[in-house]
Amino acid sequence: MNNIKNLVRPSIAALKGYSSARDEFTGMEGIFLDANENPFGNLNRYPDPYQRQLKKEISQIKNVSEKNLFIGNGSDEIIDITFRVFCEPEKDKAVILTPTYGMYEVSAAINNVALVKVPLTNSFDIDFEATKNAIADTDVKLLILCSPNNPTGNLLDSGLMEQLIKDFNGIVLIDEAYIDFSDAISCNQWLSKFENIVVMQTLSKAYGLASARVGIGYASEEIIEYYNKVKPPYNVSGLNQAAAITALKDTETYLSQKEIIISERHKLSAALDKNPLVFKQYPSVTNFILATVTDAKVIYNALTAQQIIVRNRSQQINNCLRFSVGTPEENAQLINALNKLAQ
Ligand SMILES: *Cc1c(COP(=O)(O)O)cnc(C)c1O
Repeated sequence: MNNIKNLVRPSIAALKGYSSARDEFTGMEGIFLDANENPFGNLNRYPDPYQRQLKKEISQIKNVSEKNLFIGNGSDEIIDITFRVFCEPEKDKAVILTPTYGMYEVSAAINNVALVKVPLTNSFDIDFEATKNAIADTDVKLLILCSPNNPTGNLLDSGLMEQLIKDFNGIVLIDEAYIDFSDAISCNQWLSKFENIVVMQTLSKAYGLASARVGIGYASEEIIEYYNKVKPPYNVSGLNQAAAITALKDTETYLSQKEIIISERHKLSAALDKNPLVFKQYPSVTNFILATVTDAKVIYNALTAQQIIVRNRSQQINNCLRFSVGTPEENAQLINALNKLAQ
């Protein structure tokens, strides 16, 4: 494998990051007259640019050193920074395995990076030969793997993932937005084995903090340093850092909500099984279910008319709807509405 410095865009490798006032002085007592802040109020000070307290919390829960952590303004920011650090616009390429999360394509387009799409197999797993061929192109700098995958709901084969990482002369971004709902072990355990990976998780799904925008990146210290140089200095607000710390400390709420969501997914799945409008549903280890239905558009519109909003994914997979798992009451209403439509 190339060393990381050779994979980073030359302009980023040479970049001297902005040194903010709070870079050097943070979390200590003193008279702060350095950042042109208003001296009055509660939210008047800039937050810690490196989110140290939050990282300490995550480090304990996830058993990963603070030095290997990066916090993004949502994991969507980490996707964007990954493109900006590693992919030279109009030159380098990225590979995604489709159908998958739509932001990868948007981030690639924003950064003017060509995207190569390799279809997943019929069971939505990695097509190893096709993926291997795609990443053999020396212009391909980035491979994105989403596991569990959105919108399909399944894990990718971790043995194949490992093989791809091992053979690839580039960076592999592994998106684990839904891993909390599965019993899979995070790929962040591979940090000691592979230096060309960035693993991503989020507090937006299982931790219930979508509004707070907190994404977690796991990578080598060297990669984290590049990301720190590229990110906006105060990319995660103080309010959001505090909300994240509170949510992470409340293990009981996290576990009980997760349990309800998973048991509700089983209920929803059983109901979809019995509904004649549903041809097929795909096995899910997430908080949503993808299903092929008789007529996605008709069902989608009928549900929307009853103020039940689901996601129509038919552009990616023919006649498919994606149902997020809601509260028990919301799911009962969805099931009821689908059963009525089937009559
Ligand atoms: C929801 C989702 C995210 C979103 O992450 P934020 O942390 O809210 O930005 C990332 N990846 C996938 C696959 C998702 O479905």
